[in-house]
Amino acid sequence: MGSVQIVTTILAAAITAVAVWLAVRAVSKMVAVIRLGQPDPTRSGDKISRTRTMLAETAGHTRMLRWSVVGAAHWFVMVGFIVLSLLVLEAYFEVVSPTGGLPLIGGWTLYGLVTEWIGILGVVGIGVLIAIRLANRPNRAGRRSRFTGSTMWQGYFVEAVVLAVLVMGFLIRGFKVATDHFEYPTWATPLSHAVGAALPGWESGVSVAALIKISISMVWVIVISLNVTMGVAWHRFLAFPNIFFKRRPGAAGSGLGALRPMMSDGKPLDFEEADPEKDQFGVAQVEQFTWKGLLDFSTCTECGRCQSQCPAWNTGKPLSPKLLVLSLRDHAYAKAPYLLAGGGKDLTGEEKATAAQLAHVDVLALAEAEKPLIGDAESGGVIDPDVLWSCTTCGACVEQCPVDIEHVDHIVDMRRYQVLIESSFPSEAGVMLRNLENKGNPWGAPQNTREDWTKGLDFEVPRVGETEDFEYLFWVGCAGAFEDRAKKTTRAVATLLNEAGVSFAILGEGETCSGDPARRIGNEFVFQMLAQQNVETLNEAFEGREKAKRKIVATCPHCFNTLGNEYGQLGGEFEVVHHTQLLAHLVATGKLTPVQPVDGGVTYHDPCYLGRHNRVFTPPREVLGSAIEGELTEMPRNSERSFCCGAGGARMWMEERIGKRINVDRVEEAMSTGARTVAVGCPFCSTMLTDGVNGKGAGEQVEVIDVASVLLRSVKPEQVGGAEETTPVTG
Ligand code: SF4
Ligand code: SF4
Repeated sequence: MGSVQIVTTILAAAITAVAVWLAVRAVSKMVAVIRLGQPDPTRSGDKISRTRTMLAETAGHTRMLRWSVVGAAHWFVMVGFIVLSLLVLEAYFEVVSPTGGLPLIGGWTLYGLVTEWIGILGVVGIGVLIAIRLANRPNRAGRRSRFTGSTMWQGYFVEAVVLAVLVMGFLIRGFKVATDHFEYPTWATPLSHAVGAALPGWESGVSVAALIKISISMVWVIVISLNVTMGVAWHRFLAFPNIFFKRRPGAAGSGLGALRPMMSDGKPLDFEEADPEKDQFGVAQVEQFTWKGLLDFSTCTECGRCQSQCPAWNTGKPLSPKLLVLSLRDHAYAKAPYLLAGGGKDLTGEEKATAAQLAHVDVLALAEAEKPLIGDAESGGVIDPDVLWSCTTCGACVEQCPVDIEHVDHIVDMRRYQVLIESSFPSEAGVMLRNLENKGNPWGAPQNTREDWTKGLDFEVPRVGETEDFEYLFWVGCAGAFEDRAKKTTRAVATLLNEAGVSFAILGEGETCSGDPARRIGNEFVFQMLAQQNVETLNEAFEGREKAKRKIVATCPHCFNTLGNEYGQLGGEFEVVHHTQLLAHLVATGKLTPVQPVDGGVTYHDPCYLGRHNRVFTPPREVLGSAIEGELTEMPRNSERSFCCGAGGARMWMEERIGKRINVDRVEEAMSTGARTVAVGCPFCSTMLTDGVNGKGAGEQVEVIDVASVLLRSVKPEQVGGAEETTPVTG
């Protein structure tokens, strides 16, 4: 070992020792913070499916690749990072000796070839990511940049380190070529040979370059260890467990759909026995999120994909799912010293720690602990109420997140505490909640008018109880029974089912609201009250039938989602289909025959709770494809990336006071296609988009109608404007 190698070896060992010590300290801190969260026993089952999903989403980049160029570039950087780790390890042999290399695989041509090309593609990949970050700089693109609010220096730092380490790898190899110590043939390692041709034959160049490479890598470790909230770096390690523990690992897409039940101490809350002084009602303190919630916050890469798709953010509202997650993360880590010292409030609001326990806690942590989780700027709140109530629960954030963060569950958990304990929510929604409690529907319509939509039909609509002989229970829903536009859809669906010879029956006055708006606003108590009543009614209606024969067809995606995905949590197991699925099947099997194509251009708006939440993208398009002239015109934002109408998450019953109206934004997009018909598959979308069209003064040129009505016009053109489409007068 020469004198240069003695120095490089000592320096490499010293900086590595510091980095390892800091990294161990940082990991211990992160684990301790994540363990502060509440238990969640639902995350450990089905390990095979979890492992498969984790491998597919990491090694296969299945979610990232939907952003094709970014996804491909990131894949090479990720693989480059893994391979880089081997090359960093190799550098420890090179600081000791210029001819050093990895034992066993070092010198193997295949190893040289693979590392060479991964290195080259890694340089290209990181170059692309740097270019994308620069092109989307917040100071240029403002709110339109997905990086707005991200900690930019951290992103640049991480990318610069990756680039520098890759470049140093080629320099080391170049010096080996120049000093004739390189074992790999030129065909396998062309760039290394090209670099070597330009370098002097300096023996110690290898060891010095290896020391620089190790130093850059260890500075990276030191910086991220001193910044445990640096998700842009830590996600390289945390993404694996976060994806492994995702809520529904086997489900297609992002596993949206059912909302997480309200839990206390790891068990679903039963309102018959629940006590707010003993049980946790939603989330009022950051440590009341589960450990998975805290892992979510720690894992955020600050990539901003969620933000770029969020309808609230895109229409000028203060909510960005990314900024919400970052606020919760920063608050959790800032408050952690106080919590780890034993601090925290019990469910009656009393401090749990003694003065002695808190005596040595940092003053900043104590100040952080005093911040209300939800509160405006004046009260120093972590999350502003306008942020919390802007969410439509559309799921675009969850769908886009490459590391499977579950924003919607966290938002609703915070809403639950605000509604159930603080009674703090937009006042106009109070009318809806009172109507649900007293009348069983959000509009407060009399229950005895639920069947009024059947008046004037030229066939009998059978009721459950009057007939046992029905294949489908037609779940009409509150909108379908009381709201004028939605009643047209209900009548169109009933007419088509009758035409196709499908035996169905309705509950009529036995039906109440599915509970979706109550659950999404955070009133789990009202949701459970309504849901239990419906589950009982439905179980009675299907008594004696196995699950496969407990078939329900629903026109409202919110009912479809709640009945199909959430009633199971309360003992109601049903086979629920959306009417567009059933209609597509009836057309495909020849039971319904479209005869007159609807013309004038048609576009389709994917309802969030049908599309993203339940992945029903194709059937409505198949129905429209069979009934219209020419091709369906897609909007730029469609399918998984469809833009919300603004009504979900109980926003239908709240005023939209901030920013541009979401429905107007969507209507402008629909109208930009030139289509004269905007087809929908949801009564709320129908209302919102019709209002948007009318607001733009385009009611004469553009019509918003349900997919079922489009099909009916094609199947029974003689009935256009006739009984099935006419709204009967309600009592
Ligand atoms: S669910 Fe939709 S509205 Fe809510 S934060 Fe996510 S993207 Fe935004
Ligand atoms: S998409 Fe996921 S990782 Fe990216 S900023 Fe949003 S929450 Fe963070």
